[in-house]
Amino acid sequence: MSHLRPDGDAIGSQLALGLALEEMGKTVYYWNVDGLPESMEFLPYSDKISLPPEVAPLIDVAVALDTATKVRLGEANIAACAQAKLWVNIDHHMSNPRYGDMNYVDATSPATGQIIYEIIQALQMPLPDGTRDAIYVAVSTDTGSFQYDSTTAKTYRMAADLMDRGLKIGQINAKTYDNHPYRRVELLRTLLNTLELSAAGKVASWEMLDATRVSLQLQPDDSEGLIDMIRAIRGVQVAVFFEELPDGKIRVSMRSKDRSVDVCKIATIFGGGGHYLAAGIRMAGPIAAAKELVLAEIAKAI
Ligand code: 5GP
Ligand code: MN
Repeated sequence: MSHLRPDGDAIGSQLALGLALEEMGKTVYYWNVDGLPESMEFLPYSDKISLPPEVAPLIDVAVALDTATKVRLGEANIAACAQAKLWVNIDHHMSNPRYGDMNYVDATSPATGQIIYEIIQALQMPLPDGTRDAIYVAVSTDTGSFQYDSTTAKTYRMAADLMDRGLKIGQINAKTYDNHPYRRVELLRTLLNTLELSAAGKVASWEMLDATRVSLQLQPDDSEGLIDMIRAIRGVQVAVFFEELPDGKIRVSMRSKDRSVDVCKIATIFGGGGHYLAAGIRMAGPIAAAKELVLAEIAKAI
């Protein structure tokens, strides 16, 4: 399992570990409460990702991947794993409270996908081609294409090893980054019309109303990564994306340019979490009130 609204690291980690375990003869189910995002359909064997079933099969071990808190797995996943004898929690979020029976939380790792790679190496597990591609996409998407500070020499050595194992680098990057639906660019146009600077130009924010989701027929992952565009503005320290969800709650996505502002700490004030440079919150609306509260805390931190 991985977290709701799964990203590349969530789906990639599920496939990477699951396919290796299947190669060892294990029976593996791949559950996500939001299913497989369209942007990850290109990954080999991604059709194995399904919603958790209402009547769950007997399982021995429940593995949570890339999921900072147990609730972010979603209720249906937790219910489907109620009979599991052992919970394993593998993650790289520093805010992870270690909710498993066994926990492997490495906040120095840039992606859960890299932890999976290290586990596979350490335990001399098989590394089939599907696992190879999934690890690459997991780590590439969580590091902003191997750009963030969290990227280490180990990360590049891992990527080199994946290439030695036959990874088609140009092809997989094109499938990951040059394959967006048109509606995503229409969303970008809408977001740009709401762009605002605050805190003397150190904070850039934009917002999306639920009506935009409806009119552009957006999928949850269509906005993935767009925030990087406003984080890239010269002089901007923190970028924030406010999104009105169908249930009226507000999803806040934050990015910091460097460690001088810890957005995870700000997220934690509102019950969210994440990493120093990338964090998120789900909070009460309306959107204007959420904006005021969060922007005030960011201005204070700056
Ligand atoms: P994103 O902004 O891409 O949705 O999330 C950035 C990071 O913050 C991710 O690592 C994600 O796990 C974490 N995150 C996002 N939303 C939430 C939330 O509502 N609660 C917690 N605990 N973490 C979140
Ligand atoms: Mn991750």
